[in-house]
Amino acid sequence: MEILNIKEFTSSWKEKLKHDVWFYDIDRRIGIIGHANMPYVKGLVRDCAEIGIIAKVYDYDEDINTIDYLKLVYGAETYNDYIILQTPLPPAVDAQEIKKHMNASKDIDNFTGRSKLVANTPLGIVRYLDACGFEYEGADAVVIGRSDVVGKPMAQMLLDKNCTVTICHSKTQYLQRYSNWADLVVVAAGKPEWFFPNMMAGSAKLVVDVGINEKDGKIVGDVHPYHHGVIPVTPVPGGVGLLTRCALLEQVINT
Ligand code: NAP
Repeated sequence: MEILNIKEFTSSWKEKLKHDVWFYDIDRRIGIIGHANMPYVKGLVRDCAEIGIIAKVYDYDEDINTIDYLKLVYGAETYNDYIILQTPLPPAVDAQEIKKHMNASKDIDNFTGRSKLVANTPLGIVRYLDACGFEYEGADAVVIGRSDVVGKPMAQMLLDKNCTVTICHSKTQYLQRYSNWADLVVVAAGKPEWFFPNMMAGSAKLVVDVGINEKDGKIVGDVHPYHHGVIPVTPVPGGVGLLTRCALLEQVINT
């Protein structure tokens, strides 16, 4: 297995997508309901421009209510082929109401749980592991987190590739008992710099850090920086976020 540089990997992935947009004359629009100044939103808008997809950001005030947010969703659905919502949703917005009323056929990130597309973050991670030559068959994989957008679909994809998969969550006792013998750990707990090196044996091949957290005004992952160098860890920022964006664009173009 060769640990590839994620920036280089996603840069060539985008080149291929750009070629496909041009070659097959693909015309797509994405509506992003989120804050234009958020790094993920900015990055997505930049990627879309780079490969030739139209992206429109629908910004809002943080005190927006469910009705007004739904209006934004409906407006975005009318104009665009796909829409994506920045999460977590604003505090006064009822996520269940949005899930109920959102058009699942436009749901690019499977927020509704009814989209025909697969979750982008796990898809991006699998594309990366494929390119690195990770040997899935027989590997022990531990996924920390069981959300519908990351943990569960990640575990399912690794299972489909014949890994032996363990899912850990906040009620798991002695998490280290599972992570200690893993070949691959995917950390998606949303807890800044929480996963420590002593939670894994040195024989592990890779830790995928999905976390995007704010700490002291900086973006940090779920894995403590002390971990880096002992076992390969995907960087944050500049890691899974880039893979997620490419996976999203791939699905937008191909569906
Ligand atoms: P989420 O819905 O909050 O889920 C977090 C999961 O972690 C839950 O299943 C929770 O368990 C589990 N957890 C929390 N504390 C734990 C602990 N101490 N030990 C073990 N498990 C624990 O979050 P999410 O949407 O999956 O996102 C996770 C992180 O990834 C966040 O930081 C998010 O910002 C980031 N993210 C990044 C990308 C990207 O592109 N890089 C994409 C999506 C998300 P319970 O189920 O028991 O509560």
